[in-house]
Amino acid sequence: MAFIPWSHVSLWRCNGCGICCREFEVVLTFNEWLNITKKYGVGFTKSGLNKFYIGKKPDGSCIFLYMAPDGKWLCGLQDNKPLACKLWPFKVLNKPKYGNSKEALFQYYGQNFYVYIDTFCPGIYWGQPTAELIYKVIPEFIEIALGIRQRQIYSTMQFTPRFLIIKKRDYTLI
Ligand code: SF4
Ligand code: SF4
Repeated sequence: MAFIPWSHVSLWRCNGCGICCREFEVVLTFNEWLNITKKYGVGFTKSGLNKFYIGKKPDGSCIFLYMAPDGKWLCGLQDNKPLACKLWPFKVLNKPKYGNSKEALFQYYGQNFYVYIDTFCPGIYWGQPTAELIYKVIPEFIEIALGIRQRQIYSTMQFTPRFLIIKKRDYTLI
């Protein structure tokens, strides 16, 4: 894992490659573990070193990962996704843990955050930060990290690309 400050990135878009759901162990909070075991059973989780984790399939991928008909990988938990999954590949911190403090600084409603992105994710577009990254994507990740937002729009794969919505509107107008 290598973390870069948000200001090195033009935009981030999840492309549904599913790599993160195959390569990493997802640590669960106690409540997340409880909710999953109540709904699906203990076999959908595992424990070790005083922590709870999401269960894995024999191929090493997350037990909730499945492929949609369009070939994109989707999460079977959706609205009940663990916080660790919701925040990936962003790190929202109150200290510049991974260096480059000036480049990582992001001020939101007068509060200082240090925002980094894991370069392991192929959804990163390098370059000058776009308005979407600054005003939509990062604020949403911050609100999720703070626990004041649950619903994901810009911090997850967007099912209907916005250019299709615009085209549909254009078509209706014609
Ligand atoms: S968050 Fe990144 S690694 Fe995970 S599915 Fe999306 S693009 Fe792929
Ligand atoms: S819970 Fe969902 S998002 Fe998290 S690793 Fe599993 S499939 Fe991926």
